[in-house]
Amino acid sequence: MPAEEALKKLEEGNARYLSGVYSGDFSKDIRSSTAENGQHPSAVILTCSDSRVIPEMIFSAGIGDLFVIRAAGNVVDSCTADSIIYAVEHLGCRLVVVMGHTSCGAVREALHYSRDHPLDTINLIRGAIGDETDPLNASKLNVDNSVSVIRGIFGEREGLKIMGAMYDIVSGRVEFC
Ligand SMILES: [Zn+2]
Repeated sequence: MPAEEALKKLEEGNARYLSGVYSGDFSKDIRSSTAENGQHPSAVILTCSDSRVIPEMIFSAGIGDLFVIRAAGNVVDSCTADSIIYAVEHLGCRLVVVMGHTSCGAVREALHYSRDHPLDTINLIRGAIGDETDPLNASKLNVDNSVSVIRGIFGEREGLKIMGAMYDIVSGRVEFC
């Protein structure tokens, strides 16, 4: 599916989620058809492991729709990068979205730590946010950094769109950026 079409699907799915109409397909039929025909997800979502952030719900998606990679603070390390590469190279995904969220505990930890942290994830976030002190701005900088790293992996590639997004855990709205 072309990137723009995949993005439109995510935007429409989030609008349905916000209106309380959930339409993801988790039926027996979709389990059978995806088992038989394989998966053809329309987008890759790299997001935080936070339990309040549930990509399939947020985008009204179902089985086979999204290739979701979760890691605290939606950082790109070798494992998350490999999963993204697999989805782009082997599953044909043309849209990669890095989705941060408000009130991210990993970003908060990075904001309050001024020296090397025992967790690599927090050090990656510290590098991404620099001297920023505002939690929301820091989350956005962290998303921007992951987007840049992923763009660096793929370079300029026809038809591949790599972008950021922020999820508001109170309103449920996703802002693409
Ligand atoms: Zn988080």
